[in-house]
Amino acid sequence: MTLDPKNWTDFRQVAHAMLDSSLDKMENSKQGRVWTPVPKNLKANLKIDAPNEGATPQQIKQELDQILEYGPGNTHPRFFGWVNGAGSPSNILAEIAAASMNVNSGGRNHIAPIIEQQIIKWSAGIMGMPDSTTGLITSGTSMATIIALKVARDKALELHDTSTLVGYTSAQTHNCIAKAFDLLGIPVTALRKIPCDNNFEIDIKKLEETIEKDISRNLHPFTLVGNAGTVNTGSIDNLDKLADIANNNDMWYHIDGAFGSAAILSKTVHHRLKGLNRADSIAFDFHKWWQVNYEAGCVLIKDHVSHKKSFANRPEYLKYYEGGLAGGDFWAMDYGPELSRSFRALKVWVHLKSHGIDQIADVVEKNINQAQYLKNRIESEGALELLAPVPLNICCFRYKFQSDIDMNNSLLVLKIQESGIAVPSTTVIDGNTAIRVNITNHRTKVSDIDLLINSVLEIGESLI
Ligand SMILES: *Cc1c(COP(=O)(O)O)cnc(C)c1O
Repeated sequence: MTLDPKNWTDFRQVAHAMLDSSLDKMENSKQGRVWTPVPKNLKANLKIDAPNEGATPQQIKQELDQILEYGPGNTHPRFFGWVNGAGSPSNILAEIAAASMNVNSGGRNHIAPIIEQQIIKWSAGIMGMPDSTTGLITSGTSMATIIALKVARDKALELHDTSTLVGYTSAQTHNCIAKAFDLLGIPVTALRKIPCDNNFEIDIKKLEETIEKDISRNLHPFTLVGNAGTVNTGSIDNLDKLADIANNNDMWYHIDGAFGSAAILSKTVHHRLKGLNRADSIAFDFHKWWQVNYEAGCVLIKDHVSHKKSFANRPEYLKYYEGGLAGGDFWAMDYGPELSRSFRALKVWVHLKSHGIDQIADVVEKNINQAQYLKNRIESEGALELLAPVPLNICCFRYKFQSDIDMNNSLLVLKIQESGIAVPSTTVIDGNTAIRVNITNHRTKVSDIDLLINSVLEIGESLI
């Protein structure tokens, strides 16, 4: 036997119907509730022993149709939680093609590495990095960060001992940096979290003082991590100034641009990213503001020699040949930790070809304007107060409850999520619980922002 369908005609019919279900899901993503918890009986039905016997394609489709209903809701225009992208139907075309090829894009001589490297060239160009920049499409920014900081660490280890390495970033930085330190065998305490100013940007003076102090203790500053869009408020560090500091101290300059680096496409905000192109490495996500489906992150590394040196280490069974399938110009496994990798690059490529950079730029600009609209609405409502500046696409605010203000704001967010009307999330700003609204969604309209604010006011009032 093989695992191919016994009857291709039947399978084809089900596959076409499945495509229709999937397209219905995306076409109707504006409708209905944003998030619906998985019903108890469905949860119970899923808890079965591993099946010994297979099911028919029809049976599988029935199950998939049910599963389609219970995602987190980030394809909906009123999903504002954390930083999630909304995805686009163009990805479905690519995913179908990729599934039928079942490519391993860890290396060898075929179409996948060519397409992946073309995207790296486009990305480097957009971020203002040189054409010789190397990089990979990764699962996300977390993995991109690990790859970039490993190159930084390995370069530092040529001169210094691990135990003397120290790195710097702001107190607002995402925890993927500390995780990368940990995974790379550098104690997380060696990552200095520098306090921020009133705009939630790294305090340059405190950074310089801390570096000086560390040097005087015979420690070795090896990396400086700047933020192009922090996760709490969307603040952007002074990237140009950080580049000077990294340069003066021979530090590897990494920028976390997970979502915020997409603002390089914005006419109104791109000047705030001055210095982005001076980074030694940038990590960002196509699956956030670029609207590519999960998973699609990217790492860009300026020093391609160090990049390869950090990962290329081929055993005999992976020998390179000039010709044949074991040839090819670029093997991803020489530039990252994974050998087997899916053809993620295809959906990024199809997405970019389908929409062009201009449409993505329009989405970014639209979301930035919507965040300003939201800020103005918050400031005009007596019951609400803004908790942080709005430099990009994130608003942090709260309902001015007279008592138990933190608990009541958390409860308010929970109630909105459960109402199905919208999904904001919470964070803590200067010790205060905030309602946090992130807008990285091509489907969001101003009317969705109004609906959100109206239900915040309504639910807030009901909690008094
Ligand atoms: C989302 C995010 C990350 C982590 O990226 P993943 O793609 O989820 O791994 C890192 N930094 C910032 C600022 C983020 O918003």
